[in-house]
Amino acid sequence: MSAVLVVHGGAWAIPDELATASIDGVKAAARKGFLTLTRGGSALDAVEAAVRALEDNSVFNAGHGAALNADGEVELDSIIMDGKTLACGAVSSVKNIANPVSLARAVMEKTSHVLLTGKGANLFAESIGAATVPTETLVTEYERREWKKHKNYSTGVKEDFNSQWAHDTVGAVAVDSAGNVACATSTGGIRNKMVGRVGDSPIIGCGGFADNTSGAVSCTGHGESILKVTLARLILSHIEQGKSVANASQVSLQHMGDRVQGAGGAIVVSPSGEWAATFTTERMAWAAVEGDVLWYGLDPNERAKEELSQ
Ligand code: ASP
Repeated sequence: MSAVLVVHGGAWAIPDELATASIDGVKAAARKGFLTLTRGGSALDAVEAAVRALEDNSVFNAGHGAALNADGEVELDSIIMDGKTLACGAVSSVKNIANPVSLARAVMEKTSHVLLTGKGANLFAESIGAATVPTETLVTEYERREWKKHKNYSTGVKEDFNSQWAHDTVGAVAVDSAGNVACATSTGGIRNKMVGRVGDSPIIGCGGFADNTSGAVSCTGHGESILKVTLARLILSHIEQGKSVANASQVSLQHMGDRVQGAGGAIVVSPSGEWAATFTTERMAWAAVEGDVLWYGLDPNERAKEELSQ
């Protein structure tokens, strides 16, 4: 079977001034992740590579460019999961780490735990010699300016979260030629969140989930809403009950809107290579590579394609 990789750069009302950079960023990350697959990497390697590219791109709210909390500090969350074994690793509220997705992978591979938080996660990073950076280098001028402008936290209801105040998370899902699926998600969370607030992104079944029996999902949007409906698992349970990946995503996001008034988005891939990028916010930057074709989009019901050799 042929491999597929899908990435997102967060679901929110992306302003026009960031539109081109967001699309270019997801396209570059999708190419990078897919290259990992074509060079024999696993789905897990591919989602890590794609998310690292998005974390390194300061247009997105993950790693460099992260949203700031109420104290004006960076607190990063990330998850990675292997659908073959259900192995999973996550970190939350980490500070001076430029690529939290790789630290999450180290939690998965080098500890017997699933999630390490705050100081413990940073101590673990130190113990394995993970690369650290001064936290201030992760903060962009754009984010510092926006943070000063908007000093209250979004309630998360659709209208509020859809304003240009909110920010974005990044994620990737992939299926490799052996039919193994994986997911990864990484975020700075929601601007002006309380110190210590953890959203959906590093929580298994919420910000992401991967299982070879049904598929892999990475979510974005209002974290408290995603947590309440366990969005990633909800989408997969609809797939398990026979829905297509697109329909399962739509029904689940609709449920989140109806039940807790939350908006967001999700990317999904099934073990057979069926995929979808779906959102209930104004926009979500996404890109997918399937065979020789790169698909991408930003606005609802709009998708463009490029031949990869071009
Ligand atoms: N889900 C993320 C969070 O609540 C934010 C986002 O995806 O925009 O932390």
